[in-house]
Amino acid sequence: CKPNIAIDGPAGAGKSTVAKLVAKSLGYLYIDTGAMYRAVTLKALRDGADLNDHQKLGRLASNVLISLKAGSDGNLTVLMDGEDVTEEIRLPAVSNSVSLVAKVPAVRRKMIELQKEMAAGGGVVMEGRDIGQVVLPDARVKIYLTAATGERARRRWKELADKGINVDRRQIEEDICNRDFIDTSREMDPLAPAPDAVIIDSTSCTVEGVVDLIVARITG
Ligand code: C5P
Repeated sequence: CKPNIAIDGPAGAGKSTVAKLVAKSLGYLYIDTGAMYRAVTLKALRDGADLNDHQKLGRLASNVLISLKAGSDGNLTVLMDGEDVTEEIRLPAVSNSVSLVAKVPAVRRKMIELQKEMAAGGGVVMEGRDIGQVVLPDARVKIYLTAATGERARRRWKELADKGINVDRRQIEEDICNRDFIDTSREMDPLAPAPDAVIIDSTSCTVEGVVDLIVARITG
C-alpha cells in the first residue's frame, strides 16, 4: 500500500498549504488534524462548556461526529454532526481556545483513534502536531515545518485578511505564541519534532521548494 507522510510544526508554519500541494502532486489524501480539534472546540464553545472541565470535554469529543470531506479542488470540508463548519472553526474565538481543548488526554485519545483509522489504508498526507511521533510513527516521510514567529503571524494575518477578517497583526502574533506555548508544554503528546523528522525552516523558502523536497522523498 502507498506510504503515509506526516507533517508537523507550530501554528502558521505553512503546513496546510504545503500538505495540500504534496497530496495533490502525489494523488494522496490530505488530512488536517487541527481542523478536528477545532471542530471539537467549536462544539464545546457552542455548548457553553467549561474548558477546564476535562471530563465534560472528553465526553463531548466521544459524542460529536467529525468528518473531513475532500473536494475535487483539494480543499477539505469539515463537518461537525453533519453541519459544515469549515469557515467557523477558523474564527479567532476557536483559535484562542483550541489548545486548551487539545491538551485534554481524553480528547486526544479520541482524535488519535480517528486519525489512525483515516490513515490505515496508506496514501495520506496528514498534518498536525503529533503525527510523526504519535499518530503515524511508521510514516515513510516525517517533516517538521517551522518558521520565524513574525513570519508565521504575517501568514496567518494574510490568510484571515483574504477572507475579509481583519485582526491586529500583533494580536495574532501574541495568540500564536500563546498557542505554541500550550502545545509545547502540555503533558500528553507535546509539540516537538519526531527524532527521525526532517526539520525545514520555511521562513525564507518558497512553498514550491518545500513541496518539491517532500515529494522527492517519496518519488525519488
Ligand atoms: O493546525 P491548527 O493550527 O489548525 O491546530 C489547532 C490546534 O489544534 C493546535 O494549536 C493544537 O493545540 C491542536 N492540535 C493538536 N494536535 C494535532 C493538531 C492540532 O494538538 N495533531
